[in-house]
Amino acid sequence: GATMAKSKFEYVRDFKADDTCLAHCWVVVRLDGRNFHRFAERHNFAKPNDSRALHLMTKCAQTVMEELEDIVIAYGQSDEYSFVFKRKTNWFKRRASKFMTHVASQFASSYVFYWRNYFEDQPLLYPPGFDGRVVVYPSNQTLKDYLSWRQADCHINNLYNTVFWALIQQSGLTPVEAQGRLQGTLAADKNEILFSEFNINYNNEPLIYRKGTVLIWQKVDEVMTKEIKLPTEMEGKKMAVTRTKTKPVPLHCDIIGDAFWKEHPEILD
Ligand code: ATP
Ligand code: ATP
Ligand code: MG
Ligand code: MG
Ligand code: MG
Ligand code: MG
Ligand code: MG
Repeated sequence: GATMAKSKFEYVRDFKADDTCLAHCWVVVRLDGRNFHRFAERHNFAKPNDSRALHLMTKCAQTVMEELEDIVIAYGQSDEYSFVFKRKTNWFKRRASKFMTHVASQFASSYVFYWRNYFEDQPLLYPPGFDGRVVVYPSNQTLKDYLSWRQADCHINNLYNTVFWALIQQSGLTPVEAQGRLQGTLAADKNEILFSEFNINYNNEPLIYRKGTVLIWQKVDEVMTKEIKLPTEMEGKKMAVTRTKTKPVPLHCDIIGDAFWKEHPEILD
């Protein structure tokens, strides 16, 4: 039969770098919004936490999990999301650049596509971007420690931001004054300022702010209306049908302790 014509330029293929992720390791892609400090200001994000922005981030992460292959868990906070591909994935022959670019572009296009659903009265003023990186973890323990690191980061930043913005919004301090007030304080000091000056018990702050968002696949009952076509009728009859679908479901729970992993052993299978 006829063979595909090959040009004399084909040899340039051999120059591509081999970026195969090490076999049997967990592959993690982490995205982070580019210059979101400014993006948040320009789009009037509520401080310290804009829940519209957090829910939009999670919608984009759910879209990534549904559109791409083999993501078993995702974790997000602030302007970042991490996606974990299953140990034995062979998607795109485990090429790091494919994982990273597909995650980043699917996420960024979803952010723009779904913006209006979350920011009804706030127009999107310019196209946002996200950076991506790939890290592979060789064991379940290192993967769990990676996710713990991100959740600990969420906690540390959120405790700081909660006091920082209370000092500005409720005590009238300037950002420079609030920063000075918090210089050198420990977690206990910040909790104490919140409680004594603002009557805020940090542990009662919403979990989504304190813990971030974990996405795992769970069975969900979905009620759909289905049109049943009968041969004798022009218009179909509408009927409610319940279907069980597996979807990426958001949780705002601790993932640092053992309880989460004991409750969901299938994630690390
Ligand atoms: P870089 O491009 O280096 O990532 P950056 O400005 O995005 O720069 P980050 O360290 O990623 O810096 O911090 C993200 C910033 O975005 C936060 O400091 C905060 O100001 C803002 N931000 C992100 N999400 C929210 C949110 N849900 N509510 C309020 N502010 C947010
Ligand atoms: P993959 O995800 O592997 O890239 P693909 O379907 O995108 O799959 P490509 O080899 O990238 O495959 O080919 C892109 C295809 O998109 C073309 O074969 C063509 O069918 C379609 N396409 C792209 N641009 C145009 C265009 N300007 N006009 C018409 N068709 C187009
Ligand atoms: Mg950064
Ligand atoms: Mg950022
Ligand atoms: Mg960030
Ligand atoms: Mg192609
Ligand atoms: Mg293509």
